[in-house]
Amino acid sequence: MKPTLITLALALALAAPPALAWSRQGHQLVGELAERELSPAALAQVQDLLADEPNPSLAGVSTWADEIRAAESELGKLSQRWHYVNIPGDDCDYDAARDCPDGECVIGAINAQASVLGDASRPRQERIDALKFLVHFVGDAHQPMHAGYPHDRGGNRHQLNYTGKGSPEGEGTNLHGVWDYWIVQGAGMDTADYADHLQTLALPSDPAAGLDNPAQAWTLESCRLIKAESLYPPGRRITDAYLDQHRPVAEARLRLAGARLAALLEKTLVP
Ligand SMILES: [Zn+2]
Repeated sequence: MKPTLITLALALALAAPPALAWSRQGHQLVGELAERELSPAALAQVQDLLADEPNPSLAGVSTWADEIRAAESELGKLSQRWHYVNIPGDDCDYDAARDCPDGECVIGAINAQASVLGDASRPRQERIDALKFLVHFVGDAHQPMHAGYPHDRGGNRHQLNYTGKGSPEGEGTNLHGVWDYWIVQGAGMDTADYADHLQTLALPSDPAAGLDNPAQAWTLESCRLIKAESLYPPGRRITDAYLDQHRPVAEARLRLAGARLAALLEKTLVP
């Protein structure tokens, strides 16, 4: 979605661009959860790669991929399509040639960046960027609306009006933005406390573990949640009831994303 200047200004004022991806906090939570699970060997490599970052942690670099996109840098433009995949129809019937041509979608991007990160012969800067991309894209792959329909651009064009404690007067948003921002924000917790809370959630045994293409499995899980959980509200007005109803699903996705990111980094960095 191309934000207008007004929505962009508003988004910057809130420091949480609603239409880009999980809110800043959502991405930071994924980074924080993953970092807490890394082995000392993997953590040492992460710390070495991030040593020159202003905020040298997985949480600290988790929104870099959105920031370069918003700034329209060369890499930001090149990576624009790496944040999502859109799949037509109601069956999540993914067709790589149609939905991810030339690997230009979140599934292709996770696989490509993991192979750059895992290749110690690649230039250091490429591997640093790959790590920062991976932290972000593994989060995106778990946000259901990042695997939505093409006709409404993953909910970006499904307009909604939200009225609730986050916006007592009511305000226009869209389904994608609700999932990026309002559901997580509505929990009202700071990132460290929220990560503590998410860590208490039981992790299901991972059905995507050991698959050839786990990134594809994670993303198709997201797609199926849209239908299974009826994420499209019946009308165009939503309140805190919608946020509260769906927060458990969002939190389970964040928890899984953190654990899977840790496992991916472990596999990629520690031979
Ligand atoms: Zn993103």
